Amino acid sequence: MESLDELLTKAEAAHGHMCAGQILGVRMSLLGLNRLGISDPRGADRKRLVVYVEIDRCATDAIGMVTGCRLGKRTLKFRDWGKMAATFVDLESGRGVRVVALENSRELAQQLYPHIESKSAQQMAAYRALTHDQLFREQDVRVSVDPSELPGFKGERFLCPVCGEGVNFGRWIEADGQRLCLSCAQPETQYWTPE
Ligand SMILES: [Zn+2]
Ligand SMILES: [Zn+2]
Repeated sequence: MESLDELLTKAEAAHGHMCAGQILGVRMSLLGLNRLGISDPRGADRKRLVVYVEIDRCATDAIGMVTGCRLGKRTLKFRDWGKMAATFVDLESGRGVRVVALENSRELAQQLYPHIESKSAQQMAAYRALTHDQLFREQDVRVSVDPSELPGFKGERFLCPVCGEGVNFGRWIEADGQRLCLSCAQPETQYWTPE
């Protein structure tokens, strides 16, 4: 595995800036991969790994960069729970480890580096220096990833009879014997309104 510094350089380039989230995300990933015994996530081990992220903040980009898992590859799964947490799943062994950043790490940063004025510089220094145990809680978990959620799955596609749009497997609701796409079946969940 590459070093923290090497990964941070790549994370900064991919994310567009260096921030506390990059350090947290890289370190969460290193911890998760280490626990699963995965050392080459973007090379030899790339087909073994799926990652669930629970927040859409800076750290998520770093996690994607280190693990090579991406939404477009179907290997990065987003659960919008607003938690600074991620679960790393080894598809080969079925093992998973969920890593959660501890809430008190900001206070620790303040205690450790009271002389650093900028909060973000303070956090960046601390998130490099603190141990895994000070920064994260980890738990062994089992995640049953449905085959239809994995890369390469080929499933049925259908045309919604209401909007006429094509929809990938499983993303429909049957009502009164008719299959509808999710936005036609549940208009209240539609995020847009026509202009
Ligand atoms: Zn950032
Ligand atoms: Zn529709």
